[in-house]
Amino acid sequence: MIYLDYAADTPACDAALQALCDTARAFGANPNATHAAGQAAQARLAEVTAHMAVLLGLQPEELVLTSGATEANNMGILGAARAYRARGSRLITTPMEHASVTGPMMALKAEGFTVDMLRVLPDGRVDIAHLQSLLTPETTLVSLCAVDSEVGVIQPVQQVQQALAPYPHCLLHVDATQAVGKLPVDLACADLFTLSPHKFYGLTGCGALAVRGGLRLAPLWYGGVGATPYRSGTPALALAAGADAALTEALAQLEPRLAVVRERNAQLRAALAALPFVLLNSPEDASPFLVNCSVKQGNAQALIEALSQRGICVSSKSACCAKAAPSHPVLAMTGDRKRAVNTMRVSLSHLTTPQDIDTFVAGLRACAAGLEDCHGSETAH
Ligand code: PMP
Repeated sequence: MIYLDYAADTPACDAALQALCDTARAFGANPNATHAAGQAAQARLAEVTAHMAVLLGLQPEELVLTSGATEANNMGILGAARAYRARGSRLITTPMEHASVTGPMMALKAEGFTVDMLRVLPDGRVDIAHLQSLLTPETTLVSLCAVDSEVGVIQPVQQVQQALAPYPHCLLHVDATQAVGKLPVDLACADLFTLSPHKFYGLTGCGALAVRGGLRLAPLWYGGVGATPYRSGTPALALAAGADAALTEALAQLEPRLAVVRERNAQLRAALAALPFVLLNSPEDASPFLVNCSVKQGNAQALIEALSQRGICVSSKSACCAKAAPSHPVLAMTGDRKRAVNTMRVSLSHLTTPQDIDTFVAGLRACAAGLEDCHGSETAH
């Protein structure tokens, strides 16, 4: 099996699995319980949270553990927009966002908020001049990704924050799911940001939302006080310990892993550029972890299925998108619907070998030729 879908999920690393098992074995009590066993679990949870917070440049109380980035994005966007509605009801987002950002934005629109869509330039970066024209004193939240999950465009988050400076009531939420643990990112400018350890070799089921400087959020769920005022329920201590271990390792290994991925990216981009039936969508300066292309003949899904039958796993878009929908980022960047419905996303890891890339490219050539023959014989009959 050749796995090239690391933007969707990564295999849990040994450190994360070890921490998960050790913590689950050692702490069998509810951290919210007041007895000694509960308090021991609470102390371990506080230790894990504080350690992750230090790694992320946060105070421990600024880190809210969630079930993943989807929950963190929903919590940050719905929570901030609803809590600060008295200040204004205008929100801004971009067409590059994951469904877990556009979904809550659309829900807020149905509640009466105005959601302005920020244009992107052909290279996928947000248009700062357009942002300046959209901002009003009633704008309470701008939400954008640090790196989008389909094309890998790295957004100019600092410039966005500078554009927000004249609007002190406007909060900045950054979905950093495809950035944290992979790229050196400075998120000091974000009021809220999201991360998801299963994107950097942690386990699914645990994510986090950073909530800076005493911001108030309307809770998503009601009932029970739990470990934080935002997330009632029994904290998933063992998963959190796994997340902490994965984050520790990912940050310690960030540069050497990135160097490997840059090499694989260059190899893959060069090979794809030589294929006449492929159009590259990811700009050269995109995150090296993601290479998005379109298939000119318009049969990307058939190709992806044919590759899968050969044991080569790539995706068309973000795994959370409707299968037949166009890629919103590619549509926004190119304005070309056919190109946007025929995307293939290849996502890389330091675990990817040069042979994996060679096998993928050979498989792609063979599958494309096979489909061509098939198509040719269908038209002959
Ligand atoms: N945001 C981005 C940019 C993502 O890539 C993903 C995962 N596809 C998510 C949010 C949702 O992450 P999770 O699976 O942790 O809910």
